[in-house]
Amino acid sequence: MSRRAEPLLKQDDQGETFEGDVEEIVEEALDSGEDDERAIVCARCEHEVTSEDHKTSIQGGFEHSCANPAGVLYRIGCFEEAPGCGAIGEESSEFTWFEGYAWQVVICRRCREHLGWRYRSSNHVFFGLILPKLDHWEE
Ligand SMILES: [Zn+2]
Repeated sequence: MSRRAEPLLKQDDQGETFEGDVEEIVEEALDSGEDDERAIVCARCEHEVTSEDHKTSIQGGFEHSCANPAGVLYRIGCFEEAPGCGAIGEESSEFTWFEGYAWQVVICRRCREHLGWRYRSSNHVFFGLILPKLDHWEE
């Protein structure tokens, strides 16, 4: 694709050429924003937590509905990595939702909202993040 030398904005009486140039600009804008589009952010503060690329399937699926011992139901999604989260508190293997994995609470690195849990087995780590607490993830 050759880049045109003409100015991007033309006068209205040259309508056809003008429209062609606008399309080109929109395409370039989408290309350059591709990385950001795949970012998944904290719903509370919009800090980037993970991305669509880190989605993974654990024990049969990406999404799981799990209840804790108090009966609170969580809808969580599984991610291989979540660099925007930090783990806090003690690791525990009590009441784990994933056989063979111990869990640790993870919070948003910016606003400290509880976003989910980090799960660790003897040879694997993943993050189970609470989907209603995230924005920009795709079904
Ligand atoms: Zn946050």
